[in-house]
Amino acid sequence: MEKTLVIIKPSAVQRALVGKITARFEQKGLRLAGLKMMQLTDEILNEHYAHLSSQPFFGRIKESMKAAPVICCCYAGADAVEVVRAMTGSTNGRKAVPGTIRGDFAMSFQENIIHTSDSQENAIKELERFFSPDEIFDYKLAVHPFLYSPDEA
Ligand code: ADP
Repeated sequence: MEKTLVIIKPSAVQRALVGKITARFEQKGLRLAGLKMMQLTDEILNEHYAHLSSQPFFGRIKESMKAAPVICCCYAGADAVEVVRAMTGSTNGRKAVPGTIRGDFAMSFQENIIHTSDSQENAIKELERFFSPDEIFDYKLAVHPFLYSPDEA
């Protein structure tokens, strides 16, 4: 099954939204394959946000991502990257559609609650960046036959 990375950002940790956010992925039927709290550093953020390094807000994003610890989650499921990305909503919280996580919890472009991998290729790279192999658990959910048909599983 496909895996993807979710980072619950410092603003969501400060706003005590961790339970509400993880509950959404749980109720969708995604399998929690890894979970940990981390204090991010410039080193890991320079790599993670390398695609934004020329942007004027690059320094601000890094400060925001270091403002408190984050919660890193690995979720697994059929088409997990696409499903989680759809649940995330667009980058600007003010424009994100209600019903998405950013649409329901964010008023900001920068303070937009979660990071989620945007492609399967990036999900693989990002999971390697934030988790060691022994922190990812490949157990099977007992409810699996009730989440998927045999041809989807
Ligand atoms: P996404 O997180 O939706 O994949 P990006 O990878 O483009 O979006 O950006 C990474 C993060 O940088 C965003 O989640 C947001 O916190 C911040 N960011 C992106 N664009 C802006 C912007 N124009 N102004 C402020 N912050 C931004």
